[in-house]
Amino acid sequence: MSKYIFVTGGVVSSVGKGIATASIGKILKSGGLQVSVIKLDPYLNVDPGTMSPFQHGEVFVTGDGSETDLDLGHYERFIDIDLTKSSNVTSGQIYSDVISRERRGEFLGGTIQSVPHVTDAIKAKMLNLADESKADVIIVEVGGTVGDIEGLPFLEAIRQMRNEVGKDNVFYIHLTYLPYIATTGELKTKPTQHSVRELRSIGIQPDAIICRSEQEFDDSIKTKIAVHCDVAKNSVISAPTLESVYEVPLMLYEEGLSDIIADAFSIQEFHWDIEYWEKFVRLIKAPKNIIKVGIVGKYVDLHDAYISVKEALLHAGFFHEYDIDVVWINSEEIDSNNVDYHLSNLSGIVVPGGFGYRGVEGMIETVKYARENNIPYFGLCLGMQVMVIEAARNLLRKPRANSTEFETDTPDPVIDLMIEQRDIKDLGGTMRLGIYECMLLENTKVSEFYGVESIFERHRHRFEFNNDYKASLSEVGLVASGQSPDGMLVEVMELQGHPFMIGTQYHPEFLSRPDSPHPLFREFVGAAIKTMLHGSQHEMELESLG
Ligand code: GLN
Repeated sequence: MSKYIFVTGGVVSSVGKGIATASIGKILKSGGLQVSVIKLDPYLNVDPGTMSPFQHGEVFVTGDGSETDLDLGHYERFIDIDLTKSSNVTSGQIYSDVISRERRGEFLGGTIQSVPHVTDAIKAKMLNLADESKADVIIVEVGGTVGDIEGLPFLEAIRQMRNEVGKDNVFYIHLTYLPYIATTGELKTKPTQHSVRELRSIGIQPDAIICRSEQEFDDSIKTKIAVHCDVAKNSVISAPTLESVYEVPLMLYEEGLSDIIADAFSIQEFHWDIEYWEKFVRLIKAPKNIIKVGIVGKYVDLHDAYISVKEALLHAGFFHEYDIDVVWINSEEIDSNNVDYHLSNLSGIVVPGGFGYRGVEGMIETVKYARENNIPYFGLCLGMQVMVIEAARNLLRKPRANSTEFETDTPDPVIDLMIEQRDIKDLGGTMRLGIYECMLLENTKVSEFYGVESIFERHRHRFEFNNDYKASLSEVGLVASGQSPDGMLVEVMELQGHPFMIGTQYHPEFLSRPDSPHPLFREFVGAAIKTMLHGSQHEMELESLG
C-alpha cells in the first residue's frame, strides 16, 4: 500500500512549494523508494492549456499529451520520472467529471454535494495514481495557500485521506514563509502560527513545517514554532533561499526531513548516497566562465513562462562547465533598426514557443540577424516556424511569406494549419500534443547530435511546415532534417553551412534533466561557447573593417 505525503502552503504563494515537493521526491527516490507525484490545482480551468502565460507561466506537456502545471516540470527534472495526466488534477476536471456523472444518472435520486461527492472524486484521483504507479510514496502538492476559498475541497479531501488509508500512511508538511523585519533585524513567526491555526481549523495538524526565509535561522525560532504549532522541534525545517534550486534536496536532507518521514512511516532510514549530487551541486556553484544567451519572446517579463527552456539551457551550461547568463529580450521591441543593439552581444539566441502574431516580426528579424551573422540560433516550435518564414522571405524572395496563424490569406503559406486541425472548434486540449516519433535524416547535424535514427519528443502545436516549400527551401540550404515516420510532417529544420541554426517543431526543453542535458541544448550551448571564444562572423567583419 502506498504512503502519502501532503504538501500545503501557507502565508504567501510563490515561495517554492513546487521545488520543495520535487526535492522531497528526489530524496525519497535516491533513498531507494518508488515515488510518484500529484499536483492538485484549485482553479476552475480544466487544465492550464488555455491560460495566458502571464496568468500561469509555462504549460508543461507530459509524454501522454496532457497540458499541465509547470510544477510537473520540476518534479520530472528533480526526480527523473515521466509523469502523465494523472499527476495534475484541477477543480475544473473534478467538477466537470462529477457533473457529467450526474447527467448520466450515476447518482440518481441523490443530492450532489461538495462533501462527499467532490471530495470523493478528489480522493479517487490520488488513490488511482497510487494504483497505476504502484509507488511506495505518493507526494501530493496542494496548489494555492491555506485560506483560499477555492482550495477548501482539496484540503478537506486530504484530511479525509487520513482515515481512508490509515494515519500511519499519511504525513502532512506545511510550507510557510518567515518575513524579515529589517528595522528590528528579526524573522517573524506569527504568520506561520496563524497559517497553522487555519490548517488545524480544517482538521489538519502538520507533522512537519518547512519554513522558507531569506536567511538561515537559529534554534530559538524553531523552538517557538514547535511550541506554537504543536510539532516536534526537529520537524521544523529551516529552508533559506539558496543560490541554486538544485541545492534544495541536499538542504532538506541535511535538515533531517527524510529521517522524520522514515520514522513516521516506520520504514528503514534512508541512505541516500549524496556524494554524486553534492559533487554535481559543487560543479553548479563553482565560479565559471559566463556566456550570454538571449531568449527572444513575448512573455520575457515573466521568466516562469519559459522555465523549462531556461532550465534546459542551464543544464547544458553545467555540462560544458559554463554559467549561462540568460538575457530576456522582448521580441515586440525588436525591429530592423535596433536588432544589432539588442542582439550583438549574445553568443547564442533561442526563440521559444508561442501563439498569436504579437511580437512575431521581431522574432523574424532575430532569425535574419542570427543567420547573417552566424550566431547560433535554436528555434523551439514557433521558433522553428519563424525560421522558415524568414528563409522564405529573404532567401526565396517571397516577401509576404507567412504562417496562416498570422495572415490567413498570405500568398505563401509556408506554415499552415495541420489538416486534422481544420475542423476543430474547441480550443482546450485539441492541439497535436505529447510524444510523437521523428525520423532523422542521415548526414545532418541533428542526426549527429542525437546519435540515433529515430527519436521521441513532446509536441504542442496546431500549425506545421507546408511541404510545398520543402524542395525550394532545401535548395537554399534549409533542410528538413527530421520528419514524422510517414514523411508527412516536418519536425526539424536546419540551415546548412551555419554554425548552429536548428528549429524543432517539438519542445526538446521538456526532456532535459539537470545531470543529462538534452542533446540539442548541449550542442547549441557548445556552439554558443565556440562563438564566444572565436567571435561571430559579425565581429570578424567589424574587425576586418578596422
Ligand atoms: N502557434 C504555433 C502553432 O500552434 C506554435 C506553437 C508553439 O510554439 N508551441 O503551431
